Amino acid sequence: MPAQSGRGQRQLVVVGAGAAGLYTALCAAREGAEVTLVSATELAETSSFWAQGGLAAALAPEDDIESHLADTLAAGRGAVRESAARVLVAEAPRAVEDLARLGVDFDADSDGRLALGLEGGHSQRRIVHAGGAATGRRIVRRLAAVVATEGRIEVREGRRAEALLTHEGRCTGVVLDDGERIHARATVLSTGGAAALWARTTNPSGAVGAGLMLAYAAGAALADVEFMQFHPTAVVAGIDGSGDGLLVTEAIRGEGAVLRNADGERFVDELAPRDEVARAIYAEMMRRPGTTAVALDMRRVNPALFPSVVASLRRLGIDPEASVIPVAPAAHYMMGGIETDLQARSTLPGLYAVGECSCTGLHGANRLASNSLSECFVFGARAARAALEEPELAPVALESSRPAAQSGSSAIAVPAQESRERLWRHAGLARTAEGLRTLLEDPHPLVRLIASAGLERKESRGAHWREDCPVIDTALDGRHVTHVTGQESVWEHWK
Ligand SMILES: Cc1cc2nc3c(=O)[nH]c(=O)nc-3n(C[C@H](O)[C@H](O)[C@H](O)COP(=O)(O)OP(=O)(O)OC[C@H]3O[C@@H](n4cnc5c(N)ncnc54)[C@H](O)[C@@H]3O)c2cc1C
Repeated sequence: MPAQSGRGQRQLVVVGAGAAGLYTALCAAREGAEVTLVSATELAETSSFWAQGGLAAALAPEDDIESHLADTLAAGRGAVRESAARVLVAEAPRAVEDLARLGVDFDADSDGRLALGLEGGHSQRRIVHAGGAATGRRIVRRLAAVVATEGRIEVREGRRAEALLTHEGRCTGVVLDDGERIHARATVLSTGGAAALWARTTNPSGAVGAGLMLAYAAGAALADVEFMQFHPTAVVAGIDGSGDGLLVTEAIRGEGAVLRNADGERFVDELAPRDEVARAIYAEMMRRPGTTAVALDMRRVNPALFPSVVASLRRLGIDPEASVIPVAPAAHYMMGGIETDLQARSTLPGLYAVGECSCTGLHGANRLASNSLSECFVFGARAARAALEEPELAPVALESSRPAAQSGSSAIAVPAQESRERLWRHAGLARTAEGLRTLLEDPHPLVRLIASAGLERKESRGAHWREDCPVIDTALDGRHVTHVTGQESVWEHWK
């Protein structure tokens, strides 16, 4: 099938084939649209593939969306955009139903009802999962199989979007790494997060914020990039370094695993929201100089509930039934991203963003566990619907669109290892103005933006912990630092 159809344009081009991209493409195709889906990597290179715990949805008889909303607001530390969180909690149950209809085989309890897990910050069991902790791979494999049979979706695997096309203030498509241009009425970025910009991370190496840079170069606003969530329990590798950052899902703590310090004592409520648990671990490590990990003890947890995690640990030489697991926080989830409204529209007409690269504001300063997969599906469906309302591109837009790139060739910069180390040191779990300032000269554009946003936010809130401003400034409740190329950063309040 040719890249261009009809009058030289696709209805939709979707960049990224994790949970968000696959589902958005499918929803649009089900509405009858012709879609091109571009993916730089194979499925196993996506964060979606590695997602363990599952999707949060208020499905239990004793649960309701108000309770899910209250937990999301509490975890987000006064920075959640309530309207976006409301959309998520109201539409997540429908998304789970749709995934099941598409053939995702979620785990069931002995009565045949969906088995619901518990994770930190949730007041109810509401985590839907598949294959124990193999949720992500089960979902993306199934969605990829459905996409492969969908004649309206043309898949470009192993192809990278290098720049967005624009014409007179509107996004008109993408340029791929071989120079091919794909024009579309609407372009959806679903390129994932940016946690691999930090030296210690749970994310695959490609998660370096490519979509954020594409959007920023084209003039779309970014927001909340100072909010990087550090997952409390990522494996600390042995001497050979293999397995460092391997995630041990929070759902295991939901089933009774505990954290212990060097004296073998518990020191935190293991099911508190992630910012709290990660900082408690950091404090333990700081109290004992030279300590690189605390112990996660899952010896009393039934290993049959988490077969993939147990197998991964065994491959690293750790037997979780016999010994404790050395863990410490690692960069995990970017709450910030491309600023969008509740239909996933960015501030640049014609450009949409879904999944971890987007910032609807629903996660605030600290994402509630398992809200992100749900977000991919809820906002993917919304993006598909809204994008199909976009008007056709005029012939002049097809002829005159130009790639929006900072240096003329690609909008995407690859981070050097030194940048990653610096970001970990100065924009990690504990930050100061002095440390953040050293990042302002970093060669990587996103590192500079993260530093600048971190400096703007002179308070400690959620995942952003400023040792030199250690309390919340309530005047900043519900406010977001936004950035547009060539302009000063601006504080916004979103409805
Ligand atoms: C180990 C781990 C466990 C997790 N567990 C959970 C969990 O249990 N529950 C939960 O809700 N969340 C979890 N998360 C977070 C969640 O998995 C992610 O937020 C979510 O999957 C992101 O999906 P996405 O589709 O936005 O991005 P991704 O799944 O990362 O997909 C990004 C896609 O974009 C492509 N891409 C990137 N740049 C380009 C480019 N320039 N051109 C073309 N393609 C490009 C990539 O190749 C890839 O296909 C976990 C994350 C990790 C890393």
